[in-house]
Amino acid sequence: VPEGHTIHRAALDQAPGLVGWEVTATSPNHLFQSGAAQLDGRRVERVEAWGKHLFYLFSGSRVLHVHLGMDGRFGGRGLPLVRLAGSRLTVDITRPKICAVIDPIHMDRIVSRLGPDPIRTDDHGGSIWPRLQTHDGPLGMALLDQTLVAGIGNVYRAEILFANRIHPERPAATVTELEWQAIWDTAVRMLRAGVEDRGRIITVDRRDMKVRDRRRTYVYGQRFCAHCGSPIRQWDLAGRVAYACETCQPRGAD
Ligand SMILES: [Zn+2]
Repeated sequence: VPEGHTIHRAALDQAPGLVGWEVTATSPNHLFQSGAAQLDGRRVERVEAWGKHLFYLFSGSRVLHVHLGMDGRFGGRGLPLVRLAGSRLTVDITRPKICAVIDPIHMDRIVSRLGPDPIRTDDHGGSIWPRLQTHDGPLGMALLDQTLVAGIGNVYRAEILFANRIHPERPAATVTELEWQAIWDTAVRMLRAGVEDRGRIITVDRRDMKVRDRRRTYVYGQRFCAHCGSPIRQWDLAGRVAYACETCQPRGAD
């Protein structure tokens, strides 16, 4: 499932082949023909990622807004909804959750509703902690709330909390400012590594593993903890499967 790192990776990979070029925009599966017609022949001026949202800014104040959701892909099988063909690169977008032609004002509105994005260097996450103080859900739910932090999905939620030894059900309002700073720093490190690593998610630091195996994640999708050997618990939290080692991430006395 694409998380913020996938979208930033796509922006970095696609921008050099699209920006500055007039593109041919089509809808191979015919479901986005009028949208494609509004972009066809225009020049791409910028490709920008914010959290899980991707924006292609075209000449003439047209913006293609894309959110892949759970099923969307760049490329992928079957006929794409949109094909942007520049002279050096063709981008296919298949089964996105959101795909719309909007204007820059609408784009600003969407971005203003998103929380800080750990991958963007213009964010430092300091504004988030005061908002956690009034949050009435568990931290594992808050981390998936894109209006609070933009770009973290289910895999990174599990891994960031494990790395900080914090239980996903810990009430968000009890997280201290120092703990939040450490969580934010982990999010920055892990998500930026995901961008660098061609969009793959590898979160483990071998020094933190007592068990020798070739896993790429500490707890996400795992059966036992590489640090202490305890079984990993899985359960539903905010509609997505949470993973935790309840030995390393104790519930605490709340
Ligand atoms: Zn453990």
